[in-house]
Amino acid sequence: MNLRILLVNPWIHDFAAYNLWSRPLGLLKVAGYLDSLETELFFIDCTDSIEIRKYGTGRFRSERIEKPSLLRQVPRSYKRYGIAAEEFVGKVKEQLPLDLVLMTCVMSYWYPGAQRAVELVRETAGDVPIILGGVYATLYHEHASRCSGADFIYKGPLSDSIGFAIRTFGFRPKKRRHVSARFRAGLQGGQPFAPLLTASGCPYRCHYCASDLLSKGYERRPADDVIDELGGLFNTGIRDFAFYDDALLFDPEEHIKPLLRKIVAKGLNARFHTPNGLHARFLDREIARLMKAANFRTIRLSLETVDHQRQEVTGGKVGNEDMKSAVKYLKDEGFTKDEIGVYLMYGLPGQPLDEVREGVEFLKDLDVRINLTEFSPIKGTKSWEELVRSGVIDEGLDPLLTNNTVFSYLYSGYDPQEVEGMRLDVKSYNAK
Ligand code: SF4
Repeated sequence: MNLRILLVNPWIHDFAAYNLWSRPLGLLKVAGYLDSLETELFFIDCTDSIEIRKYGTGRFRSERIEKPSLLRQVPRSYKRYGIAAEEFVGKVKEQLPLDLVLMTCVMSYWYPGAQRAVELVRETAGDVPIILGGVYATLYHEHASRCSGADFIYKGPLSDSIGFAIRTFGFRPKKRRHVSARFRAGLQGGQPFAPLLTASGCPYRCHYCASDLLSKGYERRPADDVIDELGGLFNTGIRDFAFYDDALLFDPEEHIKPLLRKIVAKGLNARFHTPNGLHARFLDREIARLMKAANFRTIRLSLETVDHQRQEVTGGKVGNEDMKSAVKYLKDEGFTKDEIGVYLMYGLPGQPLDEVREGVEFLKDLDVRINLTEFSPIKGTKSWEELVRSGVIDEGLDPLLTNNTVFSYLYSGYDPQEVEGMRLDVKSYNAK
């Protein structure tokens, strides 16, 4: 008999959240693996409640909830983003009886959402085994073992050990004779957009990033595989595709250029977006031209800081001259200020606010959108170690306090009014 497995993407508990084409990619990958076994899969995405806006992005439905005591000092309201709890319970009931539940938790500081989902599954489905994976389970294995309520904490990216985790509960599903990708399309859940991954991991090791902690090195998919997936999703009616790669432009002659040529040749009437910042260093005239021909509408580049020394010390992925050239190539092809956004971080360890302001002015001169992002420390990274060494945080810091909003407010040492002034200035510049 097929094993009945429920996959759950729990709620976001946060001060702010907006859906920029996000889907639980790790869970989709797990679904792909399980789909090759004799299983019957069901999926509940607690964040599946968005009011669609431009290009399929949107606002999540949300409800105000009580702030955890650790966050009391933050003067913002705290919310649960996603479907109502009763709706979740109703959906779980529809799938009973279940043999197994697999859950993810995408951001470590959203763990209260996973805790709530575990509680409700227990109340509704009895003592069905629950396996928790994802970023929180990987980076905070001990915390998740102690606090999540799940029976098994799965650490790391998807590998054969997911089979081990399932066997722990006495299940040994056989391989299916005919494998199909039927579940992938079903998982889209009627969303008008889809995320795409053409490779996992990243060859760089930036001090503030967890890419190498969450992937087993940098690994590409064959271009034809990506094209098949894209074509299949397009045939289901999806028109907006977001590349979620960490290093989409790396080694361009071997990777992105051949892929973009194939996309252009396919002539799909689709739109493409790159919400993860691209490496400006690799963006040359030909890539800009291919992106225009393929119909890219949202391009995000990563600068993080304008300070040359900090760029080098934290990983050397980009320099100011790279950014200037990349923006010029994009503008030459007709991309507008609204379509080109650049990420600029504030709150990096030891970063003065004047450095961020300098970055803002640099980007204004380039006439691009400025995407200010708050630094949040990720356990296991060099930036984390630096903050622990300098006594700013404790190694045992609760994941809740690594929330970007919280971190900037409580630990960056900036005057909140000055930060607010800078944010308002950027907002009015972006709106022009
Ligand atoms: S280049 Fe980007 S994805 Fe790669 S390590 Fe640096 S920040 Fe992370």
